[in-house]
Amino acid sequence: MTLIRVALPLPLDRLFTYRLPDDAPLPARGARVVVGFGRRRLVAFAIDAAEEAPEGVRLRRVERVVDAEPVLSETEWALAEWMARYYVAPLGLVLRLFYPAGSTGEVEDGRVGDGAPRRLHVLPAADPGEAERENVLETLSRAPQQRRAWMAALELDAPIERSAFCDALGISEGVVVALAARGLLALEEREASLDPYAGGGALPEVAAEGAPSPEQGTAIEAIRAALEGSGPVAPFLLQGVTGSGKTRVYVEAVAEVVKRGGRAIVLVPEIGLAAPTVARFRSQFGDRVAVLHSGLSRGERVSAWNRLRSGDASIAIGARSALFAPVGRADLVVVDEEHETAYKQDETPRYLARDVAVYRAALEGGVVVLGSATPSLESRARAGAGKYRRLTLPDRIAARPMPAVEIVDLAREGALVGPGLSDVLVEALGKALAAGDQALLFLNRRGFASFVQCTDCGWVGSCPNCRISLTYHRRSPRLQCHYCDHRESVPDTCPACAGRRLDTRGLGTQQVEAAVAARFPAARIERMDLDTTGPKWSHARLYRAMQAREIDVLVGTQMIAKGFDLPGVALVGVVSADTALHFPDFRSSERTFQLLVQVAGRAGRGDAPGRVLFQTWLPEHFVLAAAAAHDYEAFYAREVKDREALGYPPATRLANVVVSGPDPESVEEVIGRVAERVRGREGLTVVGPAPAPLERLRGRWRHHLLLKAASPQPLDRVLRELARREEELVGGSNRLEIDRDPLSLL
Ligand code: ADP
Ligand code: ZN
Ligand code: ZN
Repeated sequence: MTLIRVALPLPLDRLFTYRLPDDAPLPARGARVVVGFGRRRLVAFAIDAAEEAPEGVRLRRVERVVDAEPVLSETEWALAEWMARYYVAPLGLVLRLFYPAGSTGEVEDGRVGDGAPRRLHVLPAADPGEAERENVLETLSRAPQQRRAWMAALELDAPIERSAFCDALGISEGVVVALAARGLLALEEREASLDPYAGGGALPEVAAEGAPSPEQGTAIEAIRAALEGSGPVAPFLLQGVTGSGKTRVYVEAVAEVVKRGGRAIVLVPEIGLAAPTVARFRSQFGDRVAVLHSGLSRGERVSAWNRLRSGDASIAIGARSALFAPVGRADLVVVDEEHETAYKQDETPRYLARDVAVYRAALEGGVVVLGSATPSLESRARAGAGKYRRLTLPDRIAARPMPAVEIVDLAREGALVGPGLSDVLVEALGKALAAGDQALLFLNRRGFASFVQCTDCGWVGSCPNCRISLTYHRRSPRLQCHYCDHRESVPDTCPACAGRRLDTRGLGTQQVEAAVAARFPAARIERMDLDTTGPKWSHARLYRAMQAREIDVLVGTQMIAKGFDLPGVALVGVVSADTALHFPDFRSSERTFQLLVQVAGRAGRGDAPGRVLFQTWLPEHFVLAAAAAHDYEAFYAREVKDREALGYPPATRLANVVVSGPDPESVEEVIGRVAERVRGREGLTVVGPAPAPLERLRGRWRHHLLLKAASPQPLDRVLRELARREEELVGGSNRLEIDRDPLSLL
């Protein structure tokens, strides 16, 4: 009798032993097997042969071996093992990443892996015409979610799986059912939703480009030499200002790989926002490209995966999980906009694709290119230390100037003339519209956190220990630090200027849109944010409408900063440039700088020079000055010192330990116990415990603890110990989550 150890796709950090059918050979490491577990049937992963059966257990039999051939290469296997160790995650949850979504986990309808079950899809609704539209909106006036879903269905380009539709809108499936029952929405069982990128139909046009610029040429040469060489090469950090033509460098590097018959993986932060990049690769490489995205049906996902595995396709483009596309060995991995937080997975395994890409390349002797106009401090610091090799594109293509950025001081007497609108912005908008140019108005999403700000001098309270902004709590009014738990009462007058105008409100895109419409009634204004038109697929639609000059002013959140390369945009206004600075996170300066540079980079991509306005209460702030000057290096030099002084990355390594549960007292007690256990370890600093910034999430209370160390090793040890002792430490219905190298501490 052959015994086999199996990793289950469940948050259980141990292996389970099963019997193999009598004549079955031992499956390859990582191969999928179907096993019973309790009452469930699961697609799990073969690990190795077991010597003996655990005592007193009646062993169950493996029901089926799904993969007769090995799927993971040696290096892919090594990568999975490393991820499980480093991120303290069960191996079974890591291995899932290497298979098409939906082909592992619980077995549905008796099908495994390659089945493409039929799913309900929401069909695009026909435009009912203006009068009927008013009617429907009236009917749905008391059902805001149905109203939103109905409006979203009007904007669909193609059928979409009902679950994806609901996810994108943040609504329950019941809302869709109710709409269908009213006859306002059509649902249909379909095997596959249309791939929005298939055939390039929905993709923006690709402009012809000339020969690479000299700077592009240098970068391309360096990458080419690395691809040619056989020894290990340091990862490249491609630091190029917005509009410097980084994509062209990626394309040429991939072309080199294709020429040699190799494989490449191109990661983008969010595939739904990457239409121009996808179009670029599609136009160059056609069917060799497999685009992986969440809009694919299960069948399409499996087929893209199979095309990559067989070599029919040799270039995988997708969001972070495309890093695990079945290419065997990746000759090249490109990580575009490497600073983006979307590269971090926010559930177990909480991996950071940027770092895993570097590890993968090291294992396989491949080349990795991390590209950004505003690199993460971590990557820039590694380049400074000689671990990464920096390639720079300091200028825009065709000697286009960087747009001129003006800082508009909102604290100035008479500056504000309407909600979010300064006198300067109104005048600039008027000029742009008169000249037939387009404008983007940008608001930072304030998110959950509110803070107290003096509207006379811009003062915002911050923690004396951690130097992050204090969060304002409305219910029992106080200001509180969500790292170390420092608390203060809410002042009546501004501690800085003794003014009495302290404000806790923020502005929404809707108010700004209305204010612009009131001033410029003839302008064609559109709004784009997740709360309203919301669905991601409308990004491509609005992009095309902007390209076709059907919109004069687009008001939106940071979404409109991404991937927009529009020659018609002459004016970019940032409505409140400092809001994001007050986010309770030690990276708030970095995030704000990235956003501002990103947004400013949307202007002046055509022949006319662009104009950018940063409206702010803090005109002297170094982040604003550096962003206005397009000076990443100035920002970096100052910020990296601040981080070092405060013991934050890149000077240190972090882990966030969160305990959550239904009972607040029990959660506090448990996090206290965890803190006691880890306090005083060599090389480790413990900050907190404190309530997490999102103190309550989906009915669970959350407290957290921040662990800092100068190097990874002390964290390796202590995190593994916590995971091992989870049951004893946590207990009951509480949960322990470990986030290594966290990008957000919510
Ligand atoms: P980035 O990603 O660095 O912001 P892009 O890759 O979007 O920059 O390039 C900016 C613009 O310059 C795009 O419209 C692109 O088509 C164009 N471009 C890039 N390289 C060249 C080139 N060598 N010659 C002409 N145009 C180019
Ligand atoms: Zn003040
Ligand atoms: Zn603090």
